Amino acid sequence: MENIINNIPVTKCEKSKISDVDFNNLAFGSVFSDHMLVCDYKNGAWETPTIVPYQPITLDPSAKIFHYGQSIFEGMKAYKDTNEDVWLFRPMDNCKRLNISAKRLAIPELPEAYFMEGLKALLKLDSNWIPTNSGGSLYIRPFIFASGNGFHASPANAYKFIIATAPSGAYFSGKVKVAIEEKYSRSANGGVGYAKAGGNYAGQFYPTQLAIQKGYNQVIWTDDNTHEYIEEAGAMNIFVRINDTLMTAPTSDRILDGITRKSIIEIAKAEGINVEVKKISVNEVVEAAKNGSLKEMFGSGTAAVVSPIAAFGYKGTDYDLPELENSYASLLKKRITDIQYNRTDDPFGWRVKV
Ligand SMILES: *Cc1c(COP(=O)(O)O)cnc(C)c1O
Repeated sequence: MENIINNIPVTKCEKSKISDVDFNNLAFGSVFSDHMLVCDYKNGAWETPTIVPYQPITLDPSAKIFHYGQSIFEGMKAYKDTNEDVWLFRPMDNCKRLNISAKRLAIPELPEAYFMEGLKALLKLDSNWIPTNSGGSLYIRPFIFASGNGFHASPANAYKFIIATAPSGAYFSGKVKVAIEEKYSRSANGGVGYAKAGGNYAGQFYPTQLAIQKGYNQVIWTDDNTHEYIEEAGAMNIFVRINDTLMTAPTSDRILDGITRKSIIEIAKAEGINVEVKKISVNEVVEAAKNGSLKEMFGSGTAAVVSPIAAFGYKGTDYDLPELENSYASLLKKRITDIQYNRTDDPFGWRVKV
């Protein structure tokens, strides 16, 4: 890896905003740290990243992001342990996935060193923004968008890579009631569902609003072809427990390859839980709900780690899930967060010190 860390120019903010922030009352992703990393792609190459005060960016109205949606992002977190050491969780996987997304959206791939070294330099500078209260972390949002100009429908010739960070408190999703989607699709065969593209979210909002109007919190996405197989839970991967078997759908070009998902699969296996990666039919889940063998459903993703589902609706009927004393969801969340916060050994080698 090219050593660029000492070469990242830093412009510090004049006065930190940190004393204005109530770290005990942080709405997710709404307060931003003092600095951000910015890296421009121009004339066929990524330039050296710089760190500057967090601030608005100016774009031409013809910037292609506005018209053709070339926009991708990542979501990750930095954790501070009781010794004030700072940790990342599988960050190279985010870096690699950003470039997988870049390729699909015809965005030039970013050198890995710019991502990793840039992120570490930013975290070192803003390390006092990483919450230390229980369950708190610094949410990290790396993203790339087309900043190049022109109404011509073609890939832009200029891009911006930015990393912004936002301190966040413990994330409790509450009782989540989901609707299994029968009409709309989040992604399709041959599409961009496996990329973390902004447009995937834009396309998700309207069907989700319809579900919310009907009293649900979130949509369970089904395959675009038949709507008979469940694939993701909102913007999270999905797990279903029938009896003592934990199941999740296989990744495909329609499903985002979640880092939490693959970590849960490995941890569950290490815990001796029977894990099956297989297509999960809606029928099988409905039947299991009816005969009492459906024990748990939960979403998995960086923000909430696991988000237990309390009930689901399908074809006009609602099915409640049992409230379990010792759920796989709570066990797996504990195991994964213990690794993230350096409260336990890391036999998998996932933790990276900043
Ligand atoms: C980000 C994301 C996930 C979760 O990925 P993690 O790496 O676990 O955070 C799942 N599904 C979709 C659609 C996503 O965008």
